[in-house]
Amino acid sequence: MKALSEDDIRSSFVNATHGEIQRIPLPGLHEVIWQDREYLGWRDHGAPLRGYLVHWAEDLPVGVVLRASGVRMRSGISAMCSLCRTPQPSDQVTMFSAARAGRAGREGNTVGTYICSDLACSIIIRITPPKLPMQPDPAELVARRSAGLLQRVNGFTADIMRPA
Ligand SMILES: [Zn+2]
Repeated sequence: MKALSEDDIRSSFVNATHGEIQRIPLPGLHEVIWQDREYLGWRDHGAPLRGYLVHWAEDLPVGVVLRASGVRMRSGISAMCSLCRTPQPSDQVTMFSAARAGRAGREGNTVGTYICSDLACSIIIRITPPKLPMQPDPAELVARRSAGLLQRVNGFTADIMRPA
């Protein structure tokens, strides 16, 4: 993805009030390897149920504030992130809800989905099996996963912004 500046991020949130946006702690942007990411996602260490996701929708940064469900999924089963579609142990996937943008969100209307708990889909989709004959080429596999992830992230935030 194209790099995001602090201003890009602060101006991107579609489902939070001005006051809430000012209080969002930003991650260390100088450490981000932008070319290996489809979106920037991070959890809030000061408010453990909160998470943030920012991506580029065409040329516009779009950010959403997420709230993790406090309810844990049963352990020992496998779950799937709806954005990167990586099957994982259920404790690594969390149900997040996002308030809808605008009036619908202020009235309590939310969109919920399962996402990697650490909001690091971009890292997990780049883990590939070793290159072997008869197996898909790892670079091709990552490109395909990346395209799918981008499309689903766009769909997720478009849903949040859609007038209810
Ligand atoms: Zn994921």
